[in-house]
Amino acid sequence: MIDLANVTLTFPDGSSRVTAIDDATLHVDAGTTVGITGPSGSGKSSLLAVASTLIAPDRGTVTIDDVEATGLTLTERAELRRTRIGLVFQQSNLIASLTAYEQLLVMNELTTDPRRRGARAATRERASELLDAVGLSRDAGKRPAQLSGGQRQRVNIARALMHRPAVLIVDEPTSALDQERGTQIIDLLLRLTSEHDTATILVTHDQRILPRLTGAHTMVDGRLRALDTPQTVG
Ligand code: ADP
Ligand code: MG
Repeated sequence: MIDLANVTLTFPDGSSRVTAIDDATLHVDAGTTVGITGPSGSGKSSLLAVASTLIAPDRGTVTIDDVEATGLTLTERAELRRTRIGLVFQQSNLIASLTAYEQLLVMNELTTDPRRRGARAATRERASELLDAVGLSRDAGKRPAQLSGGQRQRVNIARALMHRPAVLIVDEPTSALDQERGTQIIDLLLRLTSEHDTATILVTHDQRILPRLTGAHTMVDGRLRALDTPQTVG
């Protein structure tokens, strides 16, 4: 699970500061997906940066399972990200020279834990399973340039799950895709969230998918507000 309590974040703006997140509170349980929507510049990506411990907030707390991230050092936060948090952004940031399969293997090569580094066979098996789960078994040997935008995003999602994260942070994963492929990516995220028991935060511009999520929020001028979805109303 992930819990954000009374999070405020400001950025320097000339001689004053701009408030990107204004006292936001959000809780997401394992195995569920909460959506966040809102206009450009309203603070959605900033909220994800705080949730993923990339940026420490001015005020408030971020708790991931039993760990309160805001009390950690930079090094401890990096370790928390490497072990508990999966990130999926609009731009897939895949490495051009690597195949889909190798993009996943590289996640575990980065680990400093010698026990995990030694577990090559288990890493290879997990990578194959995840490529299968995202429907890319037959494309495992392709490099990013040989994959479509939707396929690259699938690799991105599989890669984010390699280290069995407790939390999955997803920022506008469908904004570069057409509607049909976008819907497929959302379907995939919902299924994997349930199967891998991640607490998933999904920022999306697509309002139509919100009723399918466990909860939905809107962000306006840094303020996060829960939305009634047809699911909760009906
Ligand atoms: P969204 O993802 O909803 O489009 P952002 O979180 O990117 O919104 O931005 C929220 C506000 O914070 C905007 O006013 C933006 O200009 C500002 N902002 C975001 N990142 C930075 C940064 N690194 N430095 C300064 N201001 C920033
Ligand atoms: Mg954004």
